[in-house]
Amino acid sequence: MSSMLIYSVFALAMLALAFFYLFFYRSWRRKQHLEQPFPEHWPGVLEAQVPIYRWLPSDLKQRFEQHVQLFLTEKNFYGCDGFEVDDRVRLTIAGHACLLIVARSYSDYDEIRSILVYPHVYRVQEQHHDGMVVSHSDQIRAGEASSLGQVVLAWSQCEESATNPDSPHNVILHEFAHQLDYLDGTADGAPPLSGDQAEQWQETMTHAYEQLRHSLSHRKESWLDPYGATEPAEFFAVLTESFFQQPKHLSKEQPAVFEALQRFYRIDPRVFCNDPHRPTR
Ligand SMILES: [Zn+2]
Repeated sequence: MSSMLIYSVFALAMLALAFFYLFFYRSWRRKQHLEQPFPEHWPGVLEAQVPIYRWLPSDLKQRFEQHVQLFLTEKNFYGCDGFEVDDRVRLTIAGHACLLIVARSYSDYDEIRSILVYPHVYRVQEQHHDGMVVSHSDQIRAGEASSLGQVVLAWSQCEESATNPDSPHNVILHEFAHQLDYLDGTADGAPPLSGDQAEQWQETMTHAYEQLRHSLSHRKESWLDPYGATEPAEFFAVLTESFFQQPKHLSKEQPAVFEALQRFYRIDPRVFCNDPHRPTR
């Protein structure tokens, strides 16, 4: 065989390998992972830590478990300040994160690489630039999301969210909503949408955001956690918390906002609130 022929066969093989890696490797690997059985003790932990899990209809429950399985296989968890990340921590975080995409594609989380978990709220030093002047301020945080595929969470706050599924706050839902917002490259309170859905979102959310800011500036009672009025990205994250934690309240107060979120998340969490023992809002 001539050296030219060997070189051509080698080059073609490399090209085929690169093509497979680029377009099929990830889905092939995921299929392999999903062929592994769902660990026996996971449903019990999820029922305790992600209460909505037990009320998911069987088709969604299956998708949810697949998402959780992939999440725990692909994402790296790191304990900070000596915190030990065990299965309960990993399942609590993965379970709430995957709730957001239970009816969407798992690929929404492709860019998320790592989850850092602190035992309690943590201190961060912020740098502010004002012309030539640079100042620093200390901030206490319960969580944060970065466009570089990292989510940071304080476990004490995650546990509080897990044990109060009807409260307006859930730091895990909040930070992963920011990750969905980053999907189109900017944290502007509008996740990737197209056509009439994008138009409806823009119109509805702008109106609701302005209305919230107006109510707060006139010291009126707010229908949403006031933190949502700080900027559009926070508005979307806080709305997401409300959509999953207090869906009946949100749909009653802001039906158009609820509908826009329902179209994006492709589910109606009110259906999962039917348990008679669960308090309604
Ligand atoms: Zn936020």
